[in-house]
Amino acid sequence: MSHGSSVVVEPPRFDRPEVEVRASTKRKKTGAAHWSGSRIVVQIPARLKGKERSRFVDELVERLMSQRPQHTSGDASLEERARVLAELYVDGVEAASVRWVTNQRRRWASCSPASREIRVSSRLRQCPEWVIDAVLVHELAHLIEADHSPAFYELANRHPRQRECEMFLDGYALGLGLRIEDVDVDVAVDAAG
Ligand SMILES: [Zn+2]
Repeated sequence: MSHGSSVVVEPPRFDRPEVEVRASTKRKKTGAAHWSGSRIVVQIPARLKGKERSRFVDELVERLMSQRPQHTSGDASLEERARVLAELYVDGVEAASVRWVTNQRRRWASCSPASREIRVSSRLRQCPEWVIDAVLVHELAHLIEADHSPAFYELANRHPRQRECEMFLDGYALGLGLRIEDVDVDVAVDAAG
């Protein structure tokens, strides 16, 4: 690290993952942010201090997190998204695989606690990122609590938009011409009970 540059790692918060802040004297005005695994790396001018610095970092992080999801691109980014969400909300629980599927007609998503596989209906590809996030958190919670028990909801509802997500999906089902009573968020298919 050259003179005048520094790296600080900010711990994860409820609303965002771990952030690595790289301050460089070579940067004068502009910043940049990218994902590195489940961590966000931001690059900022070293001259920024105090409140100005935190505001600059917050803006870069928020911009990156609100970017159009990579969820159109494939299973790898869906899996990566699940990893970030697991760290944020579900005690870092790990799925064996997280995949888009097209053969799931009556469920938005499903989780097999035995094989630890999560499948998400490709119908959700068109949904806003927060909806997919809420669905992923719901499925990740099933890796810990297979049933829809109070303990399950304690985990799943750590994502703050679960209720909103249910309402969104009810409306989305209507829009797709699906009978909503046929469409559940999931069933933990091979769970006991
Ligand atoms: Zn469920």
